[in-house]
Amino acid sequence: MGFFSWECKGGGHSIRSRHSTNNTSSWMTQVVVVFADGDRVSGEYDGYGRVGTKLDYEGLEDGKFAMFHRACWELSKFPPFESPSENALDQGFFVGKYDPKEPFSAADLNRLKKRAEKANDKADKLWAALMAEANQAKEKACEHG
Ligand SMILES: [Zn+2]
Repeated sequence: MGFFSWECKGGGHSIRSRHSTNNTSSWMTQVVVVFADGDRVSGEYDGYGRVGTKLDYEGLEDGKFAMFHRACWELSKFPPFESPSENALDQGFFVGKYDPKEPFSAADLNRLKKRAEKANDKADKLWAALMAEANQAKEKACEHG
């Protein structure tokens, strides 16, 4: 089974495990999970759906929880569950050489958000281009078939 993860609701980057962080980005492994029913769990994310020793994948019901990096949650003033976290496209693992510093202020958090939005735009555009290419190939195949 491969790694999987979710997008942080605070700063918009994926929750990572220690396998995809270095000294600079290790804060991204420390998470707070807030549940729709008001429960909360915090700890280190292991990359496979486990948070600390208290929560494993079975406890993560689709759409019923939101994940934050602890730093982002604190800087966002400890929000409760509002909407569920989305699956992280990078699976919390395919993050390249991008290792952001821990945010310590609202301005830091804003910078993280902006960067995440940009990355998402880029991914959306790439995806749209791939789909257009696939459709073109299909049309061509139909013409020749
Ligand atoms: Zn975050």
